[in-house]
Amino acid sequence: MKMNEVLYNAAAIADRVQELAKELDVAFDGSSIVAVVALKGAMPFAMDLIRSMKTPIAVELIRAKSYLGRESTGEVEFSLLPEGDLTGKTVLVIEDILDTGRTARAIYGALLIQNPQRVHVVTLLDKPARREVEFQPDWVGFSIENVFVVGYGLDYDEAYRQLPDIRVLEL
Ligand code: 5GP
Ligand code: MG
Repeated sequence: MKMNEVLYNAAAIADRVQELAKELDVAFDGSSIVAVVALKGAMPFAMDLIRSMKTPIAVELIRAKSYLGRESTGEVEFSLLPEGDLTGKTVLVIEDILDTGRTARAIYGALLIQNPQRVHVVTLLDKPARREVEFQPDWVGFSIENVFVVGYGLDYDEAYRQLPDIRVLEL
C-alpha cells in the first residue's frame, strides 16, 4: 500500500467548504434546517461547513453501514438514526463521499419516511463514474475520478481519518 499524491490540500478544501457554505446559506435563505451528519466520514467536513454557515442549524447524526459482501447485495443498515423529530423540517444530509450511491439513497429513504418537508444532500466528494443506483446530490464539493481517497474524515480500515489533506491511496 502506498500513499500517493495529495489530491486536495487543506487550503483547497477550506476554500471549497467556504464556497459551499455561502451557496447553502443563499439556498436556505435564513430559514432553519436540520443537518444530518453521516458518520463517521463526514465529521470534519460537516463541522467545518456548519461553522461557516449563517443558516440556523440543528444537528442530528446518522450512521449507515453498507455490506458489499460476496453476494454484493449492497444492503445498507443503520446503527444510528436521528433522535429529533424531522416532521415538516428542511433536512440537509452531509455526506463524505458518494460512490455507488447506495448509502446516500438509503439515507435519503430512511429520512423521507420521517415526513420532513424536504431532504437535500451535500457531499464533499462524488465519484459519478462509479454510480450503480441513480442518485443525484444537490451540492458536490469535488467530483473525482475512480480512485480510493483517504483523509479529512475518510478512512482505510479506520486509519487516516485525521489527515488534513485528501490523498489517493494505492491499494
Ligand atoms: P456507496 O454506498 O456510495 O457505494 O459508498 C459510500 C461509502 O463508501 C462512503 O461513505 C465511504 O465509507 C465508502 N467509500 C467509497 N469510496 C471511498 C473512497 O474513495 N475512500 C474512502 N475512504 N471511502 C470510500
Ligand atoms: Mg468508510
